[in-house]
Amino acid sequence: MPVSIIEALDIIASKIPTLDSEIIPIEDAVGRVVSEEYIARFDLPRFNNSAMDGYAVKVPDANTVVTCTEVIYAGDNPNMTLVQGHAVKIMTGAPIPKGCEAVVPIENVKVENQKITLPSQIENNAFIRMAGEDIKSGTVFLHAGEKINAYTIASLASQGITHVRVIRQIKVAIFGTGDELKPHFEKIEAHQLYNSNSPMFLTRSKDLGCDVRFVRTSADTLEALESSIRSTLDADIIITSGGVSVGDKDFTKEAFTNLGMQLLINTIDIKPGKPTLIGTIGKTTVINLPGNPLASMVNYELFIRAIIRKMAGQKEHYHATITTQLKNDFSVRGGKYTVVLGKFDGQSFEPLKPQMPGMVSPMQKADGLILITPNVTVLSKGTAVKMLPIKWEFCSDKKEDVFTSM
Ligand code: AMP
Ligand code: MG
Repeated sequence: MPVSIIEALDIIASKIPTLDSEIIPIEDAVGRVVSEEYIARFDLPRFNNSAMDGYAVKVPDANTVVTCTEVIYAGDNPNMTLVQGHAVKIMTGAPIPKGCEAVVPIENVKVENQKITLPSQIENNAFIRMAGEDIKSGTVFLHAGEKINAYTIASLASQGITHVRVIRQIKVAIFGTGDELKPHFEKIEAHQLYNSNSPMFLTRSKDLGCDVRFVRTSADTLEALESSIRSTLDADIIITSGGVSVGDKDFTKEAFTNLGMQLLINTIDIKPGKPTLIGTIGKTTVINLPGNPLASMVNYELFIRAIIRKMAGQKEHYHATITTQLKNDFSVRGGKYTVVLGKFDGQSFEPLKPQMPGMVSPMQKADGLILITPNVTVLSKGTAVKMLPIKWEFCSDKKEDVFTSM
């Protein structure tokens, strides 16, 4: 019995285990998921310091002329005390001296020799960055399950942390199945076909942070399939494509079952890609995708991405959508949960035409996909749609007005 898309995603969320952890240098940790919380060991900023190049002053000295004979630079450790009638020149990031109540930026004073004319109003604490206003000592600044990016690395480095505990990298093994397939770097006969799925899954899995291995395409026999499976059983995830339908040489499921696969999902109520199968052999998760390129790609995006997030320990492991609108009228056959790939320009979603399960070319143009329920046959221009993004660097071939204004 096919499970629904939601049931399949629920099974993934509840059954896919998170891998164990390791400790690595922070510089290597981008894209990985932290597996424990990090508590600030000290305040950031560590001490009250100047937010501007300016003068450290007393508030009651506003609108007077004060004397300045000293300078504090970033990196100094001043031990003077500021008293009324005086100012100290101070650079951005330099520690605030004792007695200082505000900093006045250089551009707001008049300087003549050592005499500084202060503005008529000075606010208490103006232009002082307070200790702990960024990260407070003792608070959690990084939670287990958060994915690390360059800006997370900034927080870790600002706390003097050199190594971080993360979920280990997922090992993915990929192979195609089909007597008709040739690797893209070999000579091909007129009746043969290049294997485009395996390089696609190899690179997409790398994109998503996995350590990927690509084994020889399996012939359509049980022996060949079982031998390919045996050579990949040390992986955390095995991804195959092809041989999952009802053809005479579709032996993928049988071969995996012979080697002990326990099924989690046996076909999904989705078009395209219904024969998708998910199971486990020991600690290895197996995904058998259909051979048709576009069908396998949309199922990869929907289900394997969710599996990878779950295995990687990501707290945010559910798909999230962007609500946008349809660019043009669009119709589907209806009666099935249907995936539609499309382009997204920030304003609207434009379904790609044509897009059929066996095609390759629509995939490279797709920014995202929408999932249409079986009751829908016609969607008119302007209808609100929920898009699951595939690409996520948002840029344009046209120069856009990037400002927000009133
Ligand atoms: P199958 O699911 O094995 O019946 O394959 C369905 C269709 O997808 C057939 O037209 C296959 O030739 C094609 N196909 C299967 N595997 C691949 C692959 N790795 N790359 C490109 N096309 C494939
Ligand atoms: Mg086949």
